[in-house]
Amino acid sequence: MEKKRVYTFGNGSAEGKADMRNLLGGKGANLAEMNLIGVPVPPGFTITTDTCTEYNTLGKDKIIELLKEDVEAAVAHVENLMGTKFGSSENPCLLSVRSGARVSMPGMMDTVLNLGMNDDAVEGLVAKTGNPRFAWDSYRRFVQMFGGVVLGVEAKSKEDHDPFEDIITQAKAKKGVKLDTELDVEDLKQMVADFKAVCKEHTGKEFPNDPWEQLWESISAVFDSWMNPRAIYYRGMHKIPEEWGTAVNVQAMVFGNMGNNSGTGVAFTRNAATGENIFNGEYLLNAQGEDVVAGVRTPQQITLVGSRRWADLQGVSEEERKSKYPSLQEIMPDVYEELNKTQENLENHYRDMQDLEFTIQDGKLWMLQTRNGKRTAAAMVKIAMDLLREGMIDEKQAVLMQEPVKLDELLHPVFDAEALAEAETLAKGLPASPGASTGQVVFFADEAGKYKDSILVRTETSPEDLEGMNVAKGILTTRGGMTSHAAVVARGMGKCCVSGAGAVMIDYKARTMTIKDKEFKEGDWISLNGSTGKVYEGKIATQDPELGGDFAEIMKLADKYRTLLVRTNAETERDAKQAVEFGAEGIGLCRTEHMFFEGERIVRMREMILAEDEAGRRDALRKLLPIQREDFKAVFKAMAGKPVTIRLLDPPLHEFVPHEKENQEAMAEEMGISIEAIQAKVLELHEFNPMLGHRGCRLGNSYPEITEMQSRAIIEAALDLKNEGIEAIPEIMIPLISSKKEFKLQMDIVRSTVEKVFEERGDKIDYLVGTMMEIPRATLIADRIAEFAEFFSFGTNDLTQMGFGYSRDDVGKFLPVYIKKGILKADPFQVLDQDGIGQLVEIGTKRGRATNPKLKVGICGEHGGEPSSVEFCHRLGMDYVSCSPFRVPIARLAAAQAALR
Ligand code: PEP
Ligand code: MG
Repeated sequence: MEKKRVYTFGNGSAEGKADMRNLLGGKGANLAEMNLIGVPVPPGFTITTDTCTEYNTLGKDKIIELLKEDVEAAVAHVENLMGTKFGSSENPCLLSVRSGARVSMPGMMDTVLNLGMNDDAVEGLVAKTGNPRFAWDSYRRFVQMFGGVVLGVEAKSKEDHDPFEDIITQAKAKKGVKLDTELDVEDLKQMVADFKAVCKEHTGKEFPNDPWEQLWESISAVFDSWMNPRAIYYRGMHKIPEEWGTAVNVQAMVFGNMGNNSGTGVAFTRNAATGENIFNGEYLLNAQGEDVVAGVRTPQQITLVGSRRWADLQGVSEEERKSKYPSLQEIMPDVYEELNKTQENLENHYRDMQDLEFTIQDGKLWMLQTRNGKRTAAAMVKIAMDLLREGMIDEKQAVLMQEPVKLDELLHPVFDAEALAEAETLAKGLPASPGASTGQVVFFADEAGKYKDSILVRTETSPEDLEGMNVAKGILTTRGGMTSHAAVVARGMGKCCVSGAGAVMIDYKARTMTIKDKEFKEGDWISLNGSTGKVYEGKIATQDPELGGDFAEIMKLADKYRTLLVRTNAETERDAKQAVEFGAEGIGLCRTEHMFFEGERIVRMREMILAEDEAGRRDALRKLLPIQREDFKAVFKAMAGKPVTIRLLDPPLHEFVPHEKENQEAMAEEMGISIEAIQAKVLELHEFNPMLGHRGCRLGNSYPEITEMQSRAIIEAALDLKNEGIEAIPEIMIPLISSKKEFKLQMDIVRSTVEKVFEERGDKIDYLVGTMMEIPRATLIADRIAEFAEFFSFGTNDLTQMGFGYSRDDVGKFLPVYIKKGILKADPFQVLDQDGIGQLVEIGTKRGRATNPKLKVGICGEHGGEPSSVEFCHRLGMDYVSCSPFRVPIARLAAAQAALR
């Protein structure tokens, strides 16, 4: 059978449904579903995501040939339901064309409205509506969108204006009016001609009049936009595979710009910033879809409650609000009632917060889209717990609804209350995306990386700004509402954003902004509170967030369902304590080398390195012993009763000696030896490939006295604590093993040292000796190593480095190219390469456990806190993952999701 590429919907029936989102995209699947549950949706059809993939291999002409018959039939289906005709000069059928990937990619894909418009159709629309202004306004919008999206007409440089906007500005100036709505039919006719001229100048061709040409070009443009740099960047950021492709949704147009009995809006069934269970959203009268999101006109609130809150924030009086900015609830109570019922309906149906788009055409409500709304981490947690309490979902669903990495937003600082009280408020905008951010002002997205902490200040943002928005610490816009591009994208990123701060005047050319006569230059410090919408002058101190309430509840649920334990990588008391607060159940990696850098430690370490012979080294190590012991005591204490894996010295010794002359001189003076002696040692320690050189257990095998000292310090610390009534559970870990003998020799040293300490102290404790699995060879002979080792900890940083043959320290040079070319899907140092390196992990685990079924297995590479890698570790049946303290909650959640999937 011929492959089905086109799925129609309309008038209460549909060929697709909600669970077909992989094939129809999120938007297409939900448009179908809305039809099936009786929500009014303009009829249309969806071209599948698979077709996008075919398009990328077969090319445009072939795809049009393959689609032609089905698309023609689908357009006829729309014509029949609407009683209109595509390209007709009497009763034209106008269409919208939109993209719709499997997951929503806000602002990434492009939309063309009013397609089918030409010199004949506009007359047909005039005749049909008796509203020439509306008809011509629709025409100019079509030329503008088609010109921008399909033909690629855009501003010449970042300081220039969009050429279409320029024409509009000039037309208004010429006429001496301020609003688009004050332009008349003749002005709009002229604008259409001017817009077409701009398009012709850009493409060298006449603007296409044939509706079918317009349609095929638009469908192709949507497919093309899947591969535009913004889309690629967004996919990279959210790990969305290229092969998913986008669907194309074509629908009959309904018009929100038919006059003051029409309008358009965006709404959320709950608050996307805070999670509060309150219907909210914005609308514009006599406007078309894009006007709300583009932030060109400031939209009004849908509900009365929302409208009053908005007025309060903006300092608008109730009188002024009522007359100038009334809510939809006040001016169209019937439509509002229907909308309110529909939103309830949709949320009950999908059992999640919905993000809706609607249009009111001449008093009739049409829904254009519903999807699970993007939300901040705070909202994500609150909405799930509320839905659970409301009985809409069960515990497992509440856990599965979480996006683990998003939790990160909740763990970071908020403004220090006292510092905030002292700060001067410069302006007030809308609390578009919560959080606290302090940074230096930049005015262009591509310059957001200019400062370590930058605040991107724009009139409004657009999809081109995505990368800069991601780099910036916070975003401030002067126009646009809670559903503006800036607001939606910032919430998705978990980035602090204040939108629509009208008091801020930007001069892009001068790179300045003015707030109440005060001028701020690029590089000046400001602070934003995305939870209140306030903009402050200067830097404001921050403090740790509170982690109780719904966050604690969700984590409790995660713990109830996960089987994988979560430990942390930490070597300081502070990090260990922090990790315990975040729920760590032990330390999976304590890198002892990090304990050798501060103060006296580095001097003793260098003394050992400089020593001529074993006796000299032992002398230096004797001085290091008490320091190490105290450090271990502090860590054991912080983790009382929880296991602590301590890794013996791992890095090459050259990392401990200075390489610049200045520092060498200082070291010479400190140690009372000549600089030449130091330089000779540095030279001696030089290696061509230090990461593959004299490091890890190779050090311990060359200098067993180091292993002895460290083992002694660990056990003495544990015994000291035992005397104080504190339980310490040490697990001594030998790094960088690649052969059984290597491990055995080190283990023997550890065990004999420990026995000696036990004897000296007349006391004992339980302890384990195990190894890192971080060299490919070790994973292959894991069965033999497990004859001795009591635990394995996969060091997937080195395992990735050595498995791929990519230097951890140099991968940045080619990684971006490899990602761009699709050679790699993600950075393998962040996301475990399950196909390749994952096999080594699997082999190591299986072979190890074949010899020793009780072998404890964990992971301590960076991947231990990355959700997809955590899921992999769960599937392999590991005992634990270990990650940095701030990722512990993420790993707990990811482990629970893995168990529930
Ligand atoms: C590893 O290699 O994965 C590891 C945890 O050790 P390090 O990062 O210290 O080399
Ligand atoms: Mg390593």
